[in-house]
Amino acid sequence: MSKEHDAIIVGLGLNGSWAAKELTESGLNVLAIDQGYLLEKSYFKNLPIASDSPTMKDKFFSLKSKIFLNEKQHKNALLFRRWKKLWQKFYIDPFISKIENFEWYRSNAIGGRGHVWGRVSPRFTNRELEAKWLKKVDYKWPLKVEEINKIYKEIEKILILGGQKNNNGFNNSANYLRKRSLNIIEEEIKNKLVKHSYLNNFNVSPILEYEPGPFSPMLESAVKTKKLKIINNTIVKNLEFSKDNFVNGVKIINKKNFKEHTLNAKIIILAASPLQSVRILRNSISEFFPRGVGNSSNLLGKYIFDHVHCFRDIKFNFRKKNSIKYQNEIFNPFKPNTDSHGFFILPPKKKYVKKNLNGKFSIQGYISINQKKFHLDSFGEMFPRKENRIEFDFNNKNKFGLPKPVIYFKYNDNEKLMWDLQNEHINKLVNIFYKLPYVKKKSDFNKILTHKEKKPLAGSSSHEMGGARMGTTNKNSVVNKDGRLWDSPNVIICDASIFPSAGYQNITLTSMALAVKNSRNIIKIKKNGKLTII
Ligand SMILES: Cc1cc2nc3c(=O)[nH]c(=O)nc-3n(C[C@H](O)[C@H](O)[C@H](O)COP(=O)(O)OP(=O)(O)OC[C@H]3O[C@@H](n4cnc5c(N)ncnc54)[C@H](O)[C@@H]3O)c2cc1C
Repeated sequence: MSKEHDAIIVGLGLNGSWAAKELTESGLNVLAIDQGYLLEKSYFKNLPIASDSPTMKDKFFSLKSKIFLNEKQHKNALLFRRWKKLWQKFYIDPFISKIENFEWYRSNAIGGRGHVWGRVSPRFTNRELEAKWLKKVDYKWPLKVEEINKIYKEIEKILILGGQKNNNGFNNSANYLRKRSLNIIEEEIKNKLVKHSYLNNFNVSPILEYEPGPFSPMLESAVKTKKLKIINNTIVKNLEFSKDNFVNGVKIINKKNFKEHTLNAKIIILAASPLQSVRILRNSISEFFPRGVGNSSNLLGKYIFDHVHCFRDIKFNFRKKNSIKYQNEIFNPFKPNTDSHGFFILPPKKKYVKKNLNGKFSIQGYISINQKKFHLDSFGEMFPRKENRIEFDFNNKNKFGLPKPVIYFKYNDNEKLMWDLQNEHINKLVNIFYKLPYVKKKSDFNKILTHKEKKPLAGSSSHEMGGARMGTTNKNSVVNKDGRLWDSPNVIICDASIFPSAGYQNITLTSMALAVKNSRNIIKIKKNGKLTII
């Protein structure tokens, strides 16, 4: 099998799906390859809400399923029984975590983690892109937020952003299409917090509210053009090269019959998710690129990072007295499949956190009246460090012939301090909650787990970033500002592996905006006939 397409997209999660939309709508013939299943429509009928609590059956399933290496992740059983096809099983594609255990959420279905994400989607600002808090010019993004503001707006429109403008400037330039509000209990907590000087910056969470289904709205648009061919259950092992050392295709392996083929295209889009895209590049070896294409700077796989993540789940009951008005709170009609409303608390001001802390953290969550659950997440900024990296053991391959990933990941003292402060602030919120007269404590299960650890759980936010950082030269980065590989500029990376540094915001809106920007840029270059010139 050898057929040439205009472009090949590797991975059809949210980011690859945006690339598919952009490329097909511009008239290109596109082949998209995903290692995962195509989930049936029936999966999405009467779907329990994503934040549903695990039942005993869920817990039992997740213990048997061995999706992750680490037993601790079984507390997330809520994702597993319903989504058993969604995740890559550990025993099929094992990896090794060194230093910290890295909780790597690897998807294995068309649509990827886009099927389960919370959709909290704040914009980045120039503060994050300038990365001044990192005090090193190396981590600065080679672009300004003004270059993606228009794209943010388009995404927010297509994926229907719900939320509310406020008077503190948070996410105020966003394009809110639906009005969301805090629910009655969230509103009470907010009012109580106003009395405290910390954490009073309590906002309605900006959430994309499109309907769930096998295909996201952007993938549906791409399919409608009839320019997109999808191959699923097929792994891309590596990229292939032309005689003049440019990438000209991909090597694929069918997961069922193990047959291998080469497929060619002028443009290759990598959107397999951060660590997976790095793996494909590192496994693309030629005489000219003995350490893998994209690795001439020796930075491929280096500077991986995550959010400093702290979370808490509380199950509560209502005391009978005075609880009726709270229990009668109506569903939010705009958020599909959930009654959760959701809040986003901006980082506390410097004077309310320890002076020596570098970087910021936000807190977000929801109080689900229907499920009687209070969920909190805090995401803190982590330093990108060269020694935090993914390497590959070429003497140890999985059954599809891919080298075993080895993840080296360690938090520094600043990140541990941040995590302590995140816990401290979360505890303050929880205490306010417990003092509400109608709330009866039931269980607070994740508290015990995270506190025993005394450190953040690496990878648990599912916001892994870096490994193929963008920059200004082929010495300080793997790709340029448009996601083009310095080593072979017809390869474009469209996922968060290109982030040079993090913010305190959730990452996916920004990674999708970059996927759109990078796709539009390569389309323009192709149309000008200058594909190999950077
Ligand atoms: C429970 C949960 C909640 C989250 N909530 C939020 C949130 O509220 N806000 C937010 O911003 N982010 C959130 N995230 C993170 C968000 O889901 C991810 O950032 C985003 O979905 C990543 O998209 P992606 O397309 O880069 O990767 P993925 O969704 O992982 O997709 C990658 C695709 O590539 C395929 N693939 C991988 N390797 C290969 C290969 N070698 N060959 C072929 N195909 C391959 C996979 O099958 C998959 O379909 C959440 C994540 C989780 C798990």
